[in-house]
Amino acid sequence: MNFVTVKEDITRRREQENELRLMATAFDTGQATLITDTDMVIRRVNQAFTDITGYQGHEVVGKTPRLFKSGRHDDAFYRRLWQTLCETGHWQGEIWNRNKHGDIYPLWQSITAVIDTDGQVRHFVSVFHDIAERKRMERELETQAMRDHLTGVYNRRAFDAALARCVADSAHDQLPFALLMFDIDHFKRVNDTFGHDQGDVILQQLARCIKDCLRASDVLARWGGEEFAILLHGTGHEGAWILAERILHCVREHRFDGPPITVSIGVAEYLPGESRETLINRVDQALYTAKHGGRDAAVAALPIPA
Ligand code: GH3
Ligand code: MG
Ligand code: MG
Repeated sequence: MNFVTVKEDITRRREQENELRLMATAFDTGQATLITDTDMVIRRVNQAFTDITGYQGHEVVGKTPRLFKSGRHDDAFYRRLWQTLCETGHWQGEIWNRNKHGDIYPLWQSITAVIDTDGQVRHFVSVFHDIAERKRMERELETQAMRDHLTGVYNRRAFDAALARCVADSAHDQLPFALLMFDIDHFKRVNDTFGHDQGDVILQQLARCIKDCLRASDVLARWGGEEFAILLHGTGHEGAWILAERILHCVREHRFDGPPITVSIGVAEYLPGESRETLINRVDQALYTAKHGGRDAAVAALPIPA
């Protein structure tokens, strides 16, 4: 009888030991994990934690997660986190922390309160992973969606959005803004003579040449084909006209890998209350007039849509 009891005890202990070994292995090979007590004192961390944060276990055990604060979140952020955690026993979200080397990086963090059989919270387990790469990819995709692939300037969609914002803003800030549209003269001839690939190179060089004439707040976009648009924030007719003349001069003087080129430009200041379609039409008409007047010229749009 005694013998059987001892044997059962040993079997149970072995099972418990196996269970613990299994848990320990899962803990050390899983996602970055940090365990604190209810005073937020760190009790345990795992290898993945060290890989992400740079901190060895002995450097953080006994301290609190305040050590990782990046300064990117205000007190209200941490208050909301705590409130959710206390009310629901769980919180997850994006959080920016500082690692041992001082770098600030985004994490996706999930914190769970561990409740004992008596219903008391005993520990908090926080599991997280680095989302810096995912965020970089998201930014990259966002940028790509806004850019023209050939020239790297904004595409028409991004330009339309910027123009719509300007029109909406002007209703209350009353700041002037202007629109310029320009088109390469006789570009078909350039393509026919030098080939389409060389034409592409010239489009790229032209975009760079124009960028050099602009301020950081100006928005340059490829409207389509060999036509471009520029949005000038906080600029009235006079400033836009000066820029148009500077562009004519720069393009005329610029040395492209190919023949010299010229552009024709339409210019207009936004008239309070007009729609963006009306503004675009006015500028387009002005550009058309510049073409018909012999090209390599700028024309100011008429105030009333034709
Ligand atoms: P105009 O002075 O009246 O503007 O004459 P144009 O020859 O520039 O105008 P047209 O509209 O007859 O031709 C536009 C040309 O632009 C034709 C097309 O081959 C060229 N083009 C449009 N998009 C591209 C492009 O992405 N790459 C190259 N290489 N050429 C392009
Ligand atoms: Mg053209
Ligand atoms: Mg054209």
